[in-house]
Amino acid sequence: TARLHPLPLLVGALFATYYHLLVAPAPSYYQSLFLSLGSNDTAAAHLRALTVRPHLAGTEANALAADHVVSTLSSLSFPTRVTPYEVLLSYPVGRSLSLSAPGRDATAFALVQDTYPGDPYAAASAEVVPTFLAYAASGSAAAEVVYANYGRREDYAYLASRGVNVTGKVALARYGKVYRGDIVKNARDAGAAAAVIFTDPKDYTPGKAFPDGPWMPPTGVQVGSTFKGVGDPTTPMWASSEGCERVSVAKAMSTHDMPGIPALPVSGRDGEEILRLVGGDVAPEDWQGGDGAPVYRLGPGPAVLNLTYTGNETIATIQNVISVIEGKEEPDRYVILGNHRDAWTFGAADPNSGTAALLELAQRLSKLQNKGWRPRRTIILCNWDAEEYGLIGSTEWVEENRAMLTSRTVAYLNVDVGVSGSGVDASATPQLDELLKQASKKVQNPDNGTESLYDLWMASDSSLIGRLGGGGSDYSAFVQHIGIPSVDMAIGSGLFYAFFICLCSLSYIPEMFCCLHLTDCEFF
Ligand SMILES: [Zn+2]
Repeated sequence: TARLHPLPLLVGALFATYYHLLVAPAPSYYQSLFLSLGSNDTAAAHLRALTVRPHLAGTEANALAADHVVSTLSSLSFPTRVTPYEVLLSYPVGRSLSLSAPGRDATAFALVQDTYPGDPYAAASAEVVPTFLAYAASGSAAAEVVYANYGRREDYAYLASRGVNVTGKVALARYGKVYRGDIVKNARDAGAAAAVIFTDPKDYTPGKAFPDGPWMPPTGVQVGSTFKGVGDPTTPMWASSEGCERVSVAKAMSTHDMPGIPALPVSGRDGEEILRLVGGDVAPEDWQGGDGAPVYRLGPGPAVLNLTYTGNETIATIQNVISVIEGKEEPDRYVILGNHRDAWTFGAADPNSGTAALLELAQRLSKLQNKGWRPRRTIILCNWDAEEYGLIGSTEWVEENRAMLTSRTVAYLNVDVGVSGSGVDASATPQLDELLKQASKKVQNPDNGTESLYDLWMASDSSLIGRLGGGGSDYSAFVQHIGIPSVDMAIGSGLFYAFFICLCSLSYIPEMFCCLHLTDCEFF
């Protein structure tokens, strides 16, 4: 029998699939209504409710934050449920770090982030998890310090070229160029016994520090995961559903995706104190710190760091919240919106500025529904858990529903840090580039009534649409496991690490969300 050449079929299918995405219909009554319903008050109220306590994945406080999301979505009459998973999380039990050198008494670092005088959240901040690196190996090391710049492979290659031996030493690296899991892995591969990562003020405090400005204060510490995989480490590539098979914790902790050595993060102030005692050759110019920093030298020693870390790797319950708005014409085709809820600390910017936007958006959709609107396709609102540990909640859900999602999902739209400053930042798989541009043209810049979000975006440093190649956020499983067209977007690219969030900008993201899935997907 004659066989059809597959290419025309593929082109036809793609065209049929994306025609509606690329050809924007004229704005309708419901579109205009949706865009007119913005309220910073409700978004701000959600943000406050979600961030009143630190809410790390697996904690009671994060379960309470989940309750807020569930009750909000349920009150809007959207069918909403919690999908729990049992997954491997990591918490600090014991940490210590002291610095010594020949002829100098050892001094112990407090490993505490200071609150500022008059901080109204000082009491609540006592609940913040101690500074740590999730999944770092429990153990101790006492050895001379080697300074490894950003901890990249090329940095260790440079150290080797200068004859600096890292074997058995404590590697001191700074955040900023590669994933912290790679910083620790590269230290281990170079033979280090332990790794310490500091936040260099040169990279993270370019202006006034909090509370006088938005930037990282001297005792601020970046906490995070060092797991290089995605999803529950005890169920690699399959779902952590009830009663499932799983690898042992010991085995999960000994894979190459885990750091395998003890490691701790420290503040800029502590990092500089260590570097003051590191001798050896002066490090190259691009390895140096900013104004007021000591001269950074390569080592090894004479500074000696004595580090101990004890972690608790434990199976804990996480909770995704899933809400469904059934489509009228194509109920079995899904447009999925996702944002995570868990945070290392309070999560005002990362991620709950995005959660507030998701709930604000749901409220607007509910108002439309009350006026008789139904979406063309089914909209699924997802509030993920344990993103910070390794995109765990979203990955487990995709793994559990892989076949259904692969065949039914039109697009996945992710917002992680919804707002952290001004400006627009967006990444997408290429099919959605044009849609993203069209949508942003329909949203007004709230700070300038005569221009669109598109105008603001094009005038910024981040006017190019990025690509979703790496991990980064909850789009990962959608893009890389099941090949779904996806978008990731944020307001405030330039201030990602800022402590402040600009509440007045909060209305941007719901509108971006809504334009993306309502306007050009012909929901109306
Ligand atoms: Zn996040």
